[in-house]
Amino acid sequence: MSKRSTITNFTNYPDACGYFGDFGGIYVGETLMTPLLELKSAAGAAFQDEHFWLEYHELLRQYVGRESPCYFAQRLSEHLSNKRKNFVRNSSNDISAKIWLKREDLNHTGAHKVNNTIGQALLARRMGKKKLIAETGAGQHGVATATVAALFGFECRVFMGREDIRRQQPNVQRMELLGAEVVSVNSGTGTLKDAMNETLRYWSEVVNDTFYVVGTVAGPDPYPWMVREFQKVIGEEARRQMLDLAGGLPDCIVAAVGGGSNAIGIFYPFLNDDAVELVGVEAAGKGLATGEHAASINAGSIGVLHGAKSMLLQDQDGQIHEAYSISAGLDYPGIGPEHAFLHDVGRVRYETITDNEALEAFQMLCKFEGIIPALESSHALAQAFKETEKYRTILVCLSGRGDKDLQHVKEILEKK
Ligand SMILES: *Cc1c(COP(=O)(O)O)cnc(C)c1O
Repeated sequence: MSKRSTITNFTNYPDACGYFGDFGGIYVGETLMTPLLELKSAAGAAFQDEHFWLEYHELLRQYVGRESPCYFAQRLSEHLSNKRKNFVRNSSNDISAKIWLKREDLNHTGAHKVNNTIGQALLARRMGKKKLIAETGAGQHGVATATVAALFGFECRVFMGREDIRRQQPNVQRMELLGAEVVSVNSGTGTLKDAMNETLRYWSEVVNDTFYVVGTVAGPDPYPWMVREFQKVIGEEARRQMLDLAGGLPDCIVAAVGGGSNAIGIFYPFLNDDAVELVGVEAAGKGLATGEHAASINAGSIGVLHGAKSMLLQDQDGQIHEAYSISAGLDYPGIGPEHAFLHDVGRVRYETITDNEALEAFQMLCKFEGIIPALESSHALAQAFKETEKYRTILVCLSGRGDKDLQHVKEILEKK
């Protein structure tokens, strides 16, 4: 019997100890155990309180601009279907593809990340904290945290690797404009994994008045669960919208996976819909064989990173490998434990898309729909194009807008 068929309800995780099957848990020093347990109990109480959710949804409506549309990409769909018709000329089971886009790119700050930072800021205020800290790689989560710090009036420090500060100047400037202090992390290679270690270490010194805002469904329990609860609004809306507008559930849902928050956000409300195929897309970068990628599930192994057990990129001695992708938001060297679990039990399929495939999808969406997607989201789009060979109605999580990527894309296209 397959592992999948032994599970009757995929939404029942994590267990009381923060495990999704074999993955998750708490792997931190003793000083952080108490604050994490306090956080878990505060989150548990908040999630039982309807006023907490009322305020959360009111902010999502008034400040973020939700709900985000579910949009039928007609010209893109026609183009893909025509290409297919030529390919299988005269075939009687001709499939006409329909691509739908869940428009997280239209949120304030340009991506899904703000759904999570608003939730955690509300929780921080409820717990009486005065300061927010966060780690950031490309700077997107740092900006989303600095944004809600300004909205609520928290002091804010964002830890960022020295190398990332150099590479991501526009986001450093945004955070500073928003009133946050950006702290340079010089240890290791000066990138995201070093910033994550430093933030956990710093937090252990200041837990009394400081809330640690984690940016994806990773980190020690209760973060993977908490962040999912804040991001599942994406899938809850999409489920209603598809029933309403498309007249049924999609055949397939595709989302890009860095740490996995936009993906779990759109997947979660569909986990028990057996007929809906769920596809997570990892960045294959320059190709899995080159070693320059961010495919923790397709090319990683089991280990401990960022305080939890999951799949990650490491060498034989457990040293973390630097992840690489054309899109900075996907180069996290691990993946949230719930994804490691959903892969293990076979509920979600994880595929990979290269830099070049993502670039091509990026250009297609610009050309056929007048929408400039984030390079992260372009990975999901590229995979959706492949899924049109098997599925008719495909929903893509368009996790963010591509304005931040224009300079980068221009430089790459000019080189080609
Ligand atoms: C950060 C980011 C991602 C990747 O993060 P997840 O936690 O995997 O969702 C994807 N898309 C965009 C636009 C992002 O900013």
